Amino acid sequence: MRDPYGAAYHFWRVGAKSWEVMPRMRHPLPDADLYVCGSAWSTGQGWVYGALTQAELMLEEHFGLPRPAWLSPTAYLGA
Ligand SMILES: Cc1cc2nc3c(=O)[nH]c(=O)nc-3n(C[C@H](O)[C@H](O)[C@H](O)COP(=O)(O)OP(=O)(O)OC[C@H]3O[C@@H](n4cnc5c(N)ncnc54)[C@H](O)[C@@H]3O)c2cc1C
Repeated sequence: MRDPYGAAYHFWRVGAKSWEVMPRMRHPLPDADLYVCGSAWSTGQGWVYGALTQAELMLEEHFGLPRPAWLSPTAYLGA
């Protein structure tokens, strides 16, 4: 990226209901095959962990993939 936008960081806006926004962002347009996952809309913003949690939830919810055996069924992935 070129300056002056060479870097950025994501935070939840004060008052944002992240538990409502996260599932909506994973499939923002119900009629479109469009899916969004990344740390920006996770509870682990700024961490690879956050991006992976949203990718996992997106694959489970919208593509019917089972949770991998190595990932605990009780692992917290966010809303
Ligand atoms: C210097 C640095 C150190 C870090 N260290 C750590 C660490 O130690 N541990 C940790 O957990 N996290 C760390 N992070 C944070 C971690 O890298 C991010 O949280 C994580 O990569 C976010 O993943 P993401 O998939 O949401 O986004 P990204 O990894 O940013 O992936 C987005 C992708 O989209 C691509 N893209 C963008 N625009 C377009 C477009 N128009 N068309 C097509 N593709 C596009 C980009 O090229 C990129 O590959 C670090 C980040 C930085 C910058």
